[in-house]
Amino acid sequence: MKAEVICTGTELLCGEIVDTNSPYLAEQLRLLGIDLFQITLVGDDPERLHAVLQRSLERVDLVIAVGGLGPTEDDITREAIAQAIGEKMCVDPDLEEWIRGVFKRLGREMPAENIKQAMLIPSAHPIPNPRGTAPGWWVKKGGKTLLALPGPPRELQRMWEKEVLPEFRSHLPGEVIFSRTIKTWGLSESRVDELVSPLFFSPNPTLGIYAKPDGIWVRIIARAAAKETAKEIIRSVEAEISSILKDHIWGFDTDSLEGIVMVLLEEKKLSLATVEVGFGGLLASFLSPSPQFKGGLTLNPQQAGTMFIPNIGSHIQHEFLSVEAALDFGEAAIRYFGTNLSLGVVGAAVDTGEKRAGTICIGVVGRGRKRTASGIYPPYQLKERAAFAALFELRRFLCELS
Ligand code: ATP
Ligand code: MG
Repeated sequence: MKAEVICTGTELLCGEIVDTNSPYLAEQLRLLGIDLFQITLVGDDPERLHAVLQRSLERVDLVIAVGGLGPTEDDITREAIAQAIGEKMCVDPDLEEWIRGVFKRLGREMPAENIKQAMLIPSAHPIPNPRGTAPGWWVKKGGKTLLALPGPPRELQRMWEKEVLPEFRSHLPGEVIFSRTIKTWGLSESRVDELVSPLFFSPNPTLGIYAKPDGIWVRIIARAAAKETAKEIIRSVEAEISSILKDHIWGFDTDSLEGIVMVLLEEKKLSLATVEVGFGGLLASFLSPSPQFKGGLTLNPQQAGTMFIPNIGSHIQHEFLSVEAALDFGEAAIRYFGTNLSLGVVGAAVDTGEKRAGTICIGVVGRGRKRTASGIYPPYQLKERAAFAALFELRRFLCELS
């Protein structure tokens, strides 16, 4: 099956908003094995949108139009689709009742202009939108499928996941497609590529390597006639990749590093404090949903030594940016918060004279054990990288605790 995505909105062309919907859909279509031929951004102009829709409908089997389903003058997608398909729009009584109900629950009268959102053409089925007032359209005509989805990403993604995806999965002929994402930390994108690419010498399964803020992700996509066969293909490649990337692997699919660490702390019934010296508190922010997290100190490097740790002055004067300092700060945090463990990270986005800009040092301490690590990251990404590096070391520490 061949597809095109059309995103509407003059604000996309003015650079006021960045299109994140088409990358999302591109990935989703790829996972379904649907070939995406073209992505078009078009302004809120009826004639131009109509022309783009018509051209896409001539070329491919599936057209996805995104945005412009709102109630206002500039929301013109429904009208343009009706014109391209050659059908007349009418108010659908069920949709009207549903939209009136949404407003009623909000304690408001439905504004007259929202009646637009209750319009349908004979070839369209509405797609429910529990996160907004704009239902989507699922149009089938002459062997072509046209989907109209709302622009706000959280509405679009909910509609895709709950309504569109299950329908596609049950109707796509022949193949099933499964994917598995392996998430790693501590290796560069090119090193991961060098290590795992030799395993992928055929078109099935395929491999994708992505650099993300929380490390390098390796995605395996397998196609097969039956679900079990696709899963088996993934299982064997995953086992090979795991034996190569070993301890660099920290999670899979939708796992997040902070989520994994929070589960481990809970399972092991351990409390945690953090110290971030030279950062703004992102690590504490990541961990804050966990009841095991008792508090975090966010310190300025110049003041850190004098604030509450009497014996740390020498570290700060001579080697503030060191794993020893990270451990000392951590021990002080354990005393301060009364926790079992602490995670300390010190870093500097500029040259310190002794250390290069972007250097970070990490210390995990508690339960009679310690773990340290250091690294150098691009200074402009330092806060995020330092937080993920620290979470990765904490995860390793927790995994090794009996
Ligand atoms: P609404 O009922 O909110 O008007 P709509 O379906 O008419 O929804 P648009 O008016 O096109 O959608 O866009 C509404 C908002 O959704 C935009 O202001 C923007 O914040 C977001 N949005 C729209 N298109 C995209 C896109 N391609 N990528 C990311 N965000 C988008
Ligand atoms: Mg709109």
